[in-house]
Amino acid sequence: MKIIRKSFVFQLMPKSVDIHKMKKFCGCCHFVYNKLLEIQKERKKNNLKRLSYFQMNNELIELKKENPWLSEPHSQTLQQSLKDLHRGFQNFYEGRANEPEFHKKGVKESFRFPQGFKLDEDNGRIYLPKIGWVRYRKSRKVTGEPKNVTVRLKGGKWYVAIQTEEQIPDPIPKATSSVGIDMGIARLATLSDGTYYEPRNYLKQYEQALAKANRELARKQKRSQNWFKALHKLQKIYIHVANARKDYLHKITSEISNNHALVVVEDLRITNMSKSASGTVENPGHNVKAKSGLNKSILDQGWGAFFRMLEYKLDWNGGILLAVPPQNTSRTCPSCGHVSRENRKTQARFKCVSCGFEENADLVGAMNILRAGHARLACGSESEVSGAVRPTAAGTLREDLSEQLC
Ligand SMILES: [Zn+2]
Repeated sequence: MKIIRKSFVFQLMPKSVDIHKMKKFCGCCHFVYNKLLEIQKERKKNNLKRLSYFQMNNELIELKKENPWLSEPHSQTLQQSLKDLHRGFQNFYEGRANEPEFHKKGVKESFRFPQGFKLDEDNGRIYLPKIGWVRYRKSRKVTGEPKNVTVRLKGGKWYVAIQTEEQIPDPIPKATSSVGIDMGIARLATLSDGTYYEPRNYLKQYEQALAKANRELARKQKRSQNWFKALHKLQKIYIHVANARKDYLHKITSEISNNHALVVVEDLRITNMSKSASGTVENPGHNVKAKSGLNKSILDQGWGAFFRMLEYKLDWNGGILLAVPPQNTSRTCPSCGHVSRENRKTQARFKCVSCGFEENADLVGAMNILRAGHARLACGSESEVSGAVRPTAAGTLREDLSEQLC
């Protein structure tokens, strides 16, 4: 059996009395998060050990005594904020994310219930502890067992995200083929079977609209009613961009995961790539300008989300996503195996200096990536097996898959 987790997001239609409470709950969660972060930062400064989640909970009890208004929201929503902070630190210390920052007002306005909520789909409403029944725009049916519920304010509108879990029998992949994917800027993804997907740089498309919205925001007096209106307008464009990007990536990843049982990609470590552009004081980044341009494109195209979607969709279908280290994938001739920088005359074209094999460079990259994947699964050379990890784009470093397969 396998567990599938899904998230269903709906727009809420709260009454003004509900909105009042929800805003308050967001504020309380912010307050608790920032307070505990402050304590942790202070401890770090004094070389004291970081508080565990359990210890943070004890601090929360003290905080509640000092600030009685903190007992207005459901206590579990505050604990969830601490859980987020705890996870934020874990991700930071394990090298997956930046150090947790203070939450500013107006950013990350949300709170989560791990239990106590009730879903009434027939009447399109959800019961939120200490708030009551709130109606939502039911756009589809929720499948699986609801595990937690997050209420979020985004672009001036309230949303609820229902996280569910569902047990299904181990899927048997319908497809049997394997494919390598080369990610690029000119072509978002090139498959070793010759299929390719064009990039859609949505952020670029909306650059003017965003600049205009930003200018309008700058003209308003901060925190005035008009300022919030302008802020929501700006947020709306971002949401639109994000949704358009997500839809496109869903379409591609569904297609790939339905057509293939094994998908091999390069281990690109997106987060590292986008960080490395500016470099550090000791080690300033090379080619900073070109790199930051590249990173901007990568982030805009959503490579991280692409890998994440591909991974879980393949998993649903019983397929596998495999990441191989990017070694000479763009310089090796798929026909004779000759490795040379000279093989890659231009960014777009590959021509082997040894045997004359000629092909689109991205396609050659994808073919080599697939070959490297097959070599790994067959437990090839030591160097190919070691050091290979699954994509870190999802923010989690999984254990080496080849060990389970060999
Ligand atoms: Zn060749």
